[in-house]
Amino acid sequence: MKREEMISRIRNESGMWDVIIIGGGATGLGTAVESASRGYKTILLEQHDFAKATSSRSTKLVHGGVRYLQQGNISLVLEALHERGLLIQNAPHLVRNQSFIVPNYDWWSGPFYGIGLKVYDLLAGRLGLGPSKLLSREETLERIPTLEPDGLRGGVIYYDGQFDDARLSINLAQTINDLGGTPINYLKVTGLLKSNSVINGVKAKDMETNEEYSIYGRVIINATGIFTDNILKMDDPEARDLLTLSQGVHLVLDKDFLPGDSAIMVPHTEDGRVLFAVPWHKKVVVGTTDTPVKSATLEPRPLLEEIDFILEHAAKYLTKDPSPEDVLSVFAGIRPLVNPGSDEDTAAISRDHYLVISQSGLVTITGGKWTTYRKMGEDTINQAAMVAGLEQRESITQNLRIHGWLKNVDMDDQLYVYGTDMLAIKKLIEQTRELGEKLHPRLPYLKAEVVWAARQEMARTVEDVLARRTRALLLDARASVECAEKVADLLAKELNYDDNWKIKQVNNYRELAANYFISS
Ligand SMILES: Cc1cc2nc3c(=O)[nH]c(=O)nc-3n(C[C@H](O)[C@H](O)[C@H](O)COP(=O)(O)OP(=O)(O)OC[C@H]3O[C@@H](n4cnc5c(N)ncnc54)[C@H](O)[C@@H]3O)c2cc1C
Repeated sequence: MKREEMISRIRNESGMWDVIIIGGGATGLGTAVESASRGYKTILLEQHDFAKATSSRSTKLVHGGVRYLQQGNISLVLEALHERGLLIQNAPHLVRNQSFIVPNYDWWSGPFYGIGLKVYDLLAGRLGLGPSKLLSREETLERIPTLEPDGLRGGVIYYDGQFDDARLSINLAQTINDLGGTPINYLKVTGLLKSNSVINGVKAKDMETNEEYSIYGRVIINATGIFTDNILKMDDPEARDLLTLSQGVHLVLDKDFLPGDSAIMVPHTEDGRVLFAVPWHKKVVVGTTDTPVKSATLEPRPLLEEIDFILEHAAKYLTKDPSPEDVLSVFAGIRPLVNPGSDEDTAAISRDHYLVISQSGLVTITGGKWTTYRKMGEDTINQAAMVAGLEQRESITQNLRIHGWLKNVDMDDQLYVYGTDMLAIKKLIEQTRELGEKLHPRLPYLKAEVVWAARQEMARTVEDVLARRTRALLLDARASVECAEKVADLLAKELNYDDNWKIKQVNNYRELAANYFISS
């Protein structure tokens, strides 16, 4: 999958595209897979890199949402649990079964969460990942030896899915390409084209060359996440704001803080939030927060009070209290929540998705969550095909294998996230021994992965490689900075760039990564 090839498809395309999708996060990518798999001529335009915004900054859970059950939103939980089961089937190399333990420090919470989680099991039906169960105090501590023992009465164990969000995004872009569709990064939509007030295309700018294109299509889909209102206002400057934005922060800690395979889930901290501590790529991700924010940005900044909140609450549940020096990385993402039209608390706003067709014919899909990205795509293309007058075709994505599909991957093989592509990367190493070297002693990544990312995964910058093709930025931000030069060297060779480019890339990356560690 090469960007030059994608750009040449725009240049050489004389006719119309069937479907143009704006936005290369979970929603846009899922919609493009849905469209391309139905045989529609599909193009997806992403202003930065795939999953640059919210879709690489999640808690990494494929879940029904135990919390939404508490809110009584059964249909949302049911749909998400179904999608969870499908995603484990369709991307088994990236999604795994994760056990969660809800620790009980009150007499009532064991039976209370025990019953709630039984309902969760029932809703999952045959796509369930394992039955939930009450645990004694001893069983709980056996599974999580670092759990605070003071006042602990027992726990409840249940199961959900866990995944790598940015890797899945890249695999979805590859799936679109495999299906004959055209996913392009670094191509920003700057305007909408209309004929008789009906939308029939977009103006787009190549962010690498500044070249501008007019791209015409039968239907245009706005899947721009937290930027949804910008596109709606391009369509109608008077459009009301659809979204409320809420920021969530996560900290990454060393595995010592949570050894073993189980995650911790605290459904209700004393100020009413949910707290997760989840093993991920041999580290632990702890979060999150729910802080209203005013504007959408590609690089949201974690607030000090959000970091303090997480550290303070993690300390309540762990024997070893994490301090700011223990934080390997801190990252923030912004949720696109559909505005209920009142001043509701953002934590209480529905996480359901929202599909709307404007008078001009612009189709907008927003809200939802990673877990339901496929269903969001299916619903969107059902509507979009009608708007475009395309021949109606059945969805096939419930059983569509995602690029890299491989069952029973060996998670000790550090290339397992690539699924079937693992073999080709190993071949690169066989051909050039040096590519088998690590990028950094504290990171699991190899030089070959940079070459692969440039050749096959449309990585264009040092950040693309360290933040989303590999997850170095999230696993150890400082180590990722220390290997930025090495990555720039390898990338420049692959993409034919000079020394000036390398220097600029390394400086840009240093500046970005500085927001991911807590300075002492
Ligand atoms: C803190 C946090 C934790 C979460 N945890 C989970 C979880 O564990 N499990 C789960 O299921 N969900 C989770 N979610 C929700 C999930 O991450 C989001 O619902 C999902 O990623 C949204 O995807 P999206 O494609 O709609 O938006 P985005 O990922 O933001 O994608 C929109 C894209 O549109 C692009 N774009 C914008 N304007 C333009 C333009 N003019 N031209 C071209 N491109 C443009 C942007 O660059 C961006 O890449 C979490 C969310 C947050 C914030």
